[in-house]
Amino acid sequence: MNTEAMNARLADRREHWVELLERLTNIEGGTEMVDGVAEVGRIVASELDELGFTVELVDGGAFAPHIVAQLDGPGRPIVLGGHLDTTYTDYAPLPAFALDPPRAVGPGTADMRGGVVCFLAALDAMAHAGLLGRCPIAVLFNSDEERGAPTSRDLFREWAGRARAALFGEAGAHDGQVVTGRRAKLSYRLDVAGIAGHAGGRTGTRASALLDLSHRVIAIEGLNERFEDTAVNVGRAWGGVASNTIPAHATALIDIRYPRADQKEPVEEAMSAINEKQHVSQCSATLTLTSFRPAWPENEGSRALAEMVRQIGSLHGEEIATIQGGGTSDANWFGAAGVPALDGLGPIGFGHHTPDEYILLDTLFDRALLVAELVAALADADLPR
Ligand SMILES: [Zn+2]
Repeated sequence: MNTEAMNARLADRREHWVELLERLTNIEGGTEMVDGVAEVGRIVASELDELGFTVELVDGGAFAPHIVAQLDGPGRPIVLGGHLDTTYTDYAPLPAFALDPPRAVGPGTADMRGGVVCFLAALDAMAHAGLLGRCPIAVLFNSDEERGAPTSRDLFREWAGRARAALFGEAGAHDGQVVTGRRAKLSYRLDVAGIAGHAGGRTGTRASALLDLSHRVIAIEGLNERFEDTAVNVGRAWGGVASNTIPAHATALIDIRYPRADQKEPVEEAMSAINEKQHVSQCSATLTLTSFRPAWPENEGSRALAEMVRQIGSLHGEEIATIQGGGTSDANWFGAAGVPALDGLGPIGFGHHTPDEYILLDTLFDRALLVAELVAALADADLPR
């Protein structure tokens, strides 16, 4: 399979891809930095355009446009997925892109500008080796992944209905493992309303929203005992205005992860029971679901993809293992729908969401070759679904 031709192309164009990674990394592109994310999208779109894809920019509402790029061919499409945004809200304390061999350092290199460049490099290598056009390919890059894909989830759901397989370019795990399943994630905001009053009052109402919320936090954390396999975390809580005022408002942010779809309902019921129960007289709570991604339990198709990856890796003397992902990604939309899906196909990265984020640069090119060979092999493969 033209591995040599693809490898040669990757080597020839290495400088181009490193320059592109530098350019993209140095654009301030946290999800809410709409101009920056849109700029990243324009650059990526023009690369896809040059590769012969039909590129459409899909309105992202309050966020930057999403990219849907398609290449025709016979059969059902293979989806290559990823995101254009980073998690950062302030770039001032972050380092600019730098090469520090074997690392390429910079905000979003791992999550996931490196993966975006990796997929472009893979497609370019395939084009050069005459391997594009044997099956349809759709590249879906959204602009709001780090906020739970509020304006792009329908796009992913729609493509999950027709995809033959979905390959995602989030960073590979530390030992290079690829991801064959991920847990579901529910995020909530819990607002408690009480009644403000003078702290020194000894009579009348003491409707402290903070006290009421404290009881609820204990109840929510208690769900860790009740539901096996489920991780429940109250990650942030605040309330009140000053020590001499009874707090009228208190808020908590909650993150819940579970591995199977059938665990969603009992968790939701437990959360709404906690929401309804009043702990402090005259306090009331409002529970808001802020983000959701469905569970992607490892399926037969994902295992088949992982086996193909393992075989391709072994031809290069590489052992590529699989792992269940700790976080969620938009691959969940595909895995949840039973589509053969694989994630973690981007370069090996470390320090996601921190100022020390980096990738191991050579792995971007190893992974690009792997992805190119996998997509080429998928054109002839019969996948279980
Ligand atoms: Zn990511």
